[in-house]
Amino acid sequence: MYDVIILGAGPAGLTAGIYAARGGLNAVIVESKAVGGQAALTAEIENYPGFESVSGFELVSLIQAQCERLGVAFVYDNPVNVSLDGNIKSVKTAYSGVLEARAVIIATGAMPRTLGLPRESALMGGGVSYCATCDGAFFKGKAVAVVGGGNTAAEDALYLEKFASSVTLIHRRDALRADAILAKRIAESTVKVAWDSVVTQLNGEKKLSSVTLKNVKTGELSDLPVSGLFVAVGQTPATEGLRGVELDGGYIVTDEEMRTSLPGVFAAGDVRKKTLRQVVTATADGAIAAESAIKLLNTNA
Ligand code: NAP
Repeated sequence: MYDVIILGAGPAGLTAGIYAARGGLNAVIVESKAVGGQAALTAEIENYPGFESVSGFELVSLIQAQCERLGVAFVYDNPVNVSLDGNIKSVKTAYSGVLEARAVIIATGAMPRTLGLPRESALMGGGVSYCATCDGAFFKGKAVAVVGGGNTAAEDALYLEKFASSVTLIHRRDALRADAILAKRIAESTVKVAWDSVVTQLNGEKKLSSVTLKNVKTGELSDLPVSGLFVAVGQTPATEGLRGVELDGGYIVTDEEMRTSLPGVFAAGDVRKKTLRQVVTATADGAIAAESAIKLLNTNA
């Protein structure tokens, strides 16, 4: 029996662990994939205060080490059944039994969204990727494209410049959504931008050889030869199996104290409905969620 179960070991979950442990709670973090979440896959983070530039992996490793030093338990397993009702919450894992606690902090983050094109999943590993930091080096000297116009797409395109013979950023509008500093870097880089364009087809047998582009303004179709296509078209919140919490557009609704619609259940980080999804806001959410859990458990003790 724990005081609090934290679902997810990204920046939000790890920071919740630090604050929970420092507040005297017996905390466990359950992670089904790799520690650090999406932040760990970010090549360079340049907007986390205190670090002019730090790799995402290094930053989350530091947070994890801090968490472990404070005695937070880690369970690396898949939660197969999560029960959030009642005073005692439970998380049944695939191999590590059932965990119970009086409070749960959901920090499961978000997963990359797919384009929904035919053969997209079949070509994963054959040229289609959702992680430039993980797969970029496989495309040394090859032509690649990135789809999307947000911060992730812009950062991915700039990162891929290091390896690829050419990088084309494919965006469905005529202006990037990315922060001004990144849009400026794209404009000053060798990245070519296919404005007002969407990918309509992935071509190639076992490996990607080109993508068909459609200009959304003119309707014109064209073929862009590429070996790699990096999809960076946003995120889908990871809320599967979390029954009973109120969602909005798939994201968990909380108040400012990170309380969800269920008593004793809090949410933090990218899985939460919010306006700014950054490592710094994820860690802040985690701290607030843990403090709210501490307050609740001390009141009900
Ligand atoms: P995002 O900001 O939601 O941007 C998604 C982009 O993909 C948008 O440009 C969108 O076009 C485009 N898009 C969406 N669906 C599409 C489709 N089906 N086909 C083609 N294009 C599509 O997502 P993100 O870049 O992954 O960022 C997620 C969050 O993390 C954001 O809050 C972002 O600021 C944050 N983040 C921050 C940093 C940083 O600060 N350095 C780095 C990475 C991520 P429209 O523009 O037309 O909507």
